[in-house]
Amino acid sequence: MTSFADRLLDWFDQHGRKHLPWQQDMSVYRVWISEIMLQQTQVNTVIPYFENFLRTFPTLVSLAEADQDVVLHHWTGLGYYARARNLHKTARVVVEQYNGEFPLTATELEALPGIGRSTAAAIVAICTNQRATILDGNVKRVLARHFGIFGWPGDTSVAKTMWQQAEALTPETRVADYTQAIMDLGATLCTRSSPRCEACPFTPECVAFNTNQQAALPGRKPKKDMPVRTTTMFILENDAGEYLLQQRPPSGIWGGLWGFPQDEPLEELLTRLQLRGLISQQEELASFRNTFTHFHLDITPVHVRLSPGIGEPVPVNGTCWYSSRSKTEIGLTRPVTRILGMLE
Ligand code: SF4
Repeated sequence: MTSFADRLLDWFDQHGRKHLPWQQDMSVYRVWISEIMLQQTQVNTVIPYFENFLRTFPTLVSLAEADQDVVLHHWTGLGYYARARNLHKTARVVVEQYNGEFPLTATELEALPGIGRSTAAAIVAICTNQRATILDGNVKRVLARHFGIFGWPGDTSVAKTMWQQAEALTPETRVADYTQAIMDLGATLCTRSSPRCEACPFTPECVAFNTNQQAALPGRKPKKDMPVRTTTMFILENDAGEYLLQQRPPSGIWGGLWGFPQDEPLEELLTRLQLRGLISQQEELASFRNTFTHFHLDITPVHVRLSPGIGEPVPVNGTCWYSSRSKTEIGLTRPVTRILGMLE
């Protein structure tokens, strides 16, 4: 029987994806951005963000020189904002320390912000065709099913087994195609909820297929009850129909993004912003839940209309009046997008 890699490459030559935007005019810069965007997001969602991002920041230098607010603005809606902050930091490091040229060894790439072992390997393999092994979510799913690797891939011993298997399968030649091929197999055939095994070249030996355990593999993360936190957000609206936002601290949840004031009693907030005594109407909106990796946040939005004449910028650092018509280029937290959608 021919090797796993040969059969995968045969399948890729006929069915692989060769027209993704980052596969055209290929450069390390484009591949790097696509790999970061694809880390926790599906291809179809990534494509319009990628195209817009590349229009706005066509070169590494343009990204390095941009304001973080503008970078976050173009990431708004894609989630996991640490990726955008790290992308921006890495652009600056590469310009300052590497003269604007990405280092193309896995070790040097892994030392850059936001680039882990699999992403570093993907960049090396795709951009240089040098042998490097990836293990992203798609590959984990294919390996778990094909080889019957049970257990949650986030578990150290399961991850170790997967890395060993992935290393053993990586060929010496056509590494760039192989890397794309195994990601494509996971993304287009061996999908999470409805794998199309009838079209897969690996049915004869696939453990999951032959034992009908596709749904059980890869193993799920053991369920833990996540803590629930609560907060009240104040949506202060002036008579120009603008909303008061304040910038979050640079690290922590929603780091560097702009959100509604929260975790501060309304009276204190209004005093701090010199808006005391200027409320004309106050209404509690429907609560909703925002789930993070480690906890749920139950949010109660309170819409506060201010008396006429409060349209000027608030004289407090880190705040601004915002409306979606204003085209201000800042990154918004998910609750802002959601609440503005409800209000507007
Ligand atoms: S046969 Fe089905 S479960 Fe097995 S690798 Fe192929 S698509 Fe995945």
